Amino acid sequence: MSSPEPKSHFITEFIDEDLKTGRFKKVHTRFPPEPNGYLHIGHAKSICLNFGLARKYGGLCNIRFDDTNPETEEIEYVESIKQDVRWLGFDWDDREFYASDYFDRLYEFAETLVKKGKAFVCDLSVEEFKEYRGTITTPGKDSPYRTRTVEENLDLFRRMRAGEFADGSKALRAKIDMAHPNMLMRDPALYRIRRATHYRTGDKWCVYPMYDFAHGLSDAIEGITHSICTLEFEDHRPLYDWFLDQLDVPCHPQQIEFARLNLTNTVLSKRKLLQLVRDGLVDGWDDPRMPTIAGYRRRGCTPESIRNFCDRIGVAKANSTVDVAMLEHSIREDLNRRAPRVMAVLKPLRVVIDNYPEGQVEELEAINNPEDSAAGTRKVPFSRVLYVEQDDFRETPPPKYFRLSPGKEVRLRYAYFITCQSVVKDPQTGEVTEVHCTYDPATRGGDAPDGRKVKSTLHWVSASHAVDAEIRLYDRLFDAECPEREENFLAALKPNSLQVLHNCKLEPSLATAQPGDRFQFERQGYFCVDTKLSKPGGLVLNRIVGLKDTWAKIENRGGTGAVSPPRDRRR
Ligand code: ATP
Ligand code: MG
Repeated sequence: MSSPEPKSHFITEFIDEDLKTGRFKKVHTRFPPEPNGYLHIGHAKSICLNFGLARKYGGLCNIRFDDTNPETEEIEYVESIKQDVRWLGFDWDDREFYASDYFDRLYEFAETLVKKGKAFVCDLSVEEFKEYRGTITTPGKDSPYRTRTVEENLDLFRRMRAGEFADGSKALRAKIDMAHPNMLMRDPALYRIRRATHYRTGDKWCVYPMYDFAHGLSDAIEGITHSICTLEFEDHRPLYDWFLDQLDVPCHPQQIEFARLNLTNTVLSKRKLLQLVRDGLVDGWDDPRMPTIAGYRRRGCTPESIRNFCDRIGVAKANSTVDVAMLEHSIREDLNRRAPRVMAVLKPLRVVIDNYPEGQVEELEAINNPEDSAAGTRKVPFSRVLYVEQDDFRETPPPKYFRLSPGKEVRLRYAYFITCQSVVKDPQTGEVTEVHCTYDPATRGGDAPDGRKVKSTLHWVSASHAVDAEIRLYDRLFDAECPEREENFLAALKPNSLQVLHNCKLEPSLATAQPGDRFQFERQGYFCVDTKLSKPGGLVLNRIVGLKDTWAKIENRGGTGAVSPPRDRRR
């Protein structure tokens, strides 16, 4: 795979030390998603880290579904997660595990804790439980049920499992220390009663283990050496260790926390992403505006660009927010190398070359990818009637507007210099519907033998050869830099983040484009044939990302206005 070797960072330093001291002889990590939603770009960071470390150290990385919450978990999510991890370029061989496969063993571990006097059945209600817990500054107090005998606890726990008690009426709790400064150590719950059908174990269980209990023990069962999780689990580490210390487990993994990925203008909470999907505010989990792996894939991003992004952001111990422009940069950089260039007109304006012979067609040579000489060239037909972008013409040009306007000469890419002579307007609206030009036959290929220069080069498509397409332009879902912090993140949704353009005109080489094919539309950006909506004879393309728009910066600094001069790219 073309991914760079994982960089050194504080986690590799930990691992190096562990290998040096002999604490661990190998590296075995895991990626532990809960199948309650689709994976997002934050998960990609975790996947690249866990699988990347295994690769770097010649070790292994498991995939484990942390499926201990039956109400929210579904097989659809399991399938999507597997597809996404594979698409990112990682493989777990036959090490596909489920916490639910360990339910019997986890139950046995819990009984062992009861027998050792380290766990008890508690009848406090959820409200009472909170009340007894104390606060960060005040100790909690012991549950009145804490002194139950081992026999009584064992009997009650078995009857909990057998379904004798109502949901929520009892819980199994660890017996640690109600005055512990870390509130997570104040006799935390291990098992709760929950009559819910699990997507894998069905109705076999009515008691389910809590995450903290299940997670560390699952790691130990699998022989994980380094259990890497996000920073919010730092406070859970003493509990993680406590369970493993009490029980006879095959190994004691080291939990290491790292900073989760936050992205500007992006929501990365599964709960919130689920809300966008459920409320129909996006077109499913793979909507190209979603920050999900499935969304980026459908939009047309490559797995390499996501991996390179994850490598670029690095791994740190302190939380921070990454500018989404950095992700866009990684996407652009990768596509720049691989995407063939083509010409496409998104908002067409008819141009008639009055002095070009009627019925004549010339095949002009165009370069497929200036970044890749092996990509070769192709022929593009040129004829009397063409389309250019509406934006590339102004009847009354503002200052510094160098594109087509009455009397002005411009270059048509790979073709000729043309000069605008007159316009045709809609008598009702006054809108320019057609531009009449003349061409200079001596400028074929794009240069004038007399050395005269033009300030701009336009892309174009021959009208009679054009392939029609629908093009979908996606904007960010949120303008707010930190939509997660908004009180109501839904209110921060941008109203027009999807713009659908019909009757766009593409050069004829795109007639055979297949779903998933990616292109650079010259002067516009990178586009991908949509895998869901595109049909033979009904091409639909997504804009993956625009080209770097230097004009936008000028505009933001109070530039001259609404039109953007293209860079004059001479061939
Ligand atoms: P969310 O908070 O979005 O619901 P989660 O952490 O509950 O996500 P899990 O399915 O439990 O989702 O995550 C699987 C793994 O991915 C965990 O190890 C988690 O730490 C990691 N992960 C989740 N979100 C991020 C993120 N933004 N950056 C880095 N790693 C993440
Ligand atoms: Mg989680």
